[in-house]
Amino acid sequence: MSYDEQLLKKQERFAELLKGIDCEIAPMIGAEDPYHYRNKVHAAFGRVKGKVISGTYAEGTHKIVQNDSCIIEDRTAASIIADIRMLVTDFKLPVYDEKTGNGLIRRVLIRMAVATGEVLVVLVNGNSFFPGKKNFIARLRVLHPEITTVVVNINNRKDSMILGGRSETVFGPGFITDELCGLKFRISAESFYQINHAQTERLYSTAMSLAELKPDDKVLDAYCGIGTIGMAASKIAGSVIGVELNGTAVRDAITNKKINGRKNIRFICSDATHFINEAVAADNKYDVVFMDPPRSGSTREFISAVDRLKVPRVVYISCNPETLARDLKVFTQLGYKVKTAIPVDMFPWTDSIEAVTLLQKT
Ligand code: SAH
Repeated sequence: MSYDEQLLKKQERFAELLKGIDCEIAPMIGAEDPYHYRNKVHAAFGRVKGKVISGTYAEGTHKIVQNDSCIIEDRTAASIIADIRMLVTDFKLPVYDEKTGNGLIRRVLIRMAVATGEVLVVLVNGNSFFPGKKNFIARLRVLHPEITTVVVNINNRKDSMILGGRSETVFGPGFITDELCGLKFRISAESFYQINHAQTERLYSTAMSLAELKPDDKVLDAYCGIGTIGMAASKIAGSVIGVELNGTAVRDAITNKKINGRKNIRFICSDATHFINEAVAADNKYDVVFMDPPRSGSTREFISAVDRLKVPRVVYISCNPETLARDLKVFTQLGYKVKTAIPVDMFPWTDSIEAVTLLQKT
């Protein structure tokens, strides 16, 4: 299917899912370059007939399909993975065997900071005995001088988690720093970070312009992750509070706040619904609420609290149009008007649809 056709199909599907809701649907913001956009690339390693292979699991299995060039993955990352495979063969390193739990090299994870060019390589190993580690890393760095940090992660888990609990930084600082919407973000092996840089900037700048922030606005960034949206808002608004359930993400958000010298933003580790219920109890008003919940959407209780606080403008960012439609219905029942819904294609060549929606209290 051509890229234009994909956009058309996604647009139709989005409109279909939002059929019951009275709102204007804007044309989807497509990617300028729909290829090689994934800045996080992961490959599983295995051995077939004595030969080391690396690639992607066939759907629903752990059977590795050898693959060196995927049209949605970053090209540099793919070439680093191919060279690691060559080095694994050269160094005669044992490849991890999921059945027996023996062997060493299990996976490779690469993260690229698109704006700064920094590259993080994570070697995920089945155990901590890594013969020739120093030489291996030195050879890799000669082949790829663009690598700015290397981490060895130990994962002997039996489940499908990519990373295990123990990590050792063997070169560089252990993280990379990217820039998004004019702000710096520190990304480590485990951090959540949007994988399509160009489209994320468009998504967030669309969200900012819909919010029409003013210098004395009080803003809530609910489901804030590492704080990207709230930090962008804090450049214009008076004060911002970011709320996030995951403690690691909150820690990253606080680091990012410091790196960027932002004074008017605070992050709180809490369930979003619990937090906003407390805001209702204390009668803490907000001028704008950004919400970017996970695929399961928000809760009726959260939405009803937004209504009780009489928040005039709500910007809802969604990665699942089905739960978005469900939540928008609740908003409209409470007297909110859905002004506009703008789909953004964050994931070309997949069927995911992301969208940003503006709601106003009527
Ligand atoms: N806005 C961020 C992250 C969005 S992903 C960004 O664009 O980068 C959704 C986030 O919601 C995740 O970080 C997840 O940990 C968080 N989350 C999930 N359930 C939550 C809850 N009940 N309360 C608060 N945050 C929650």
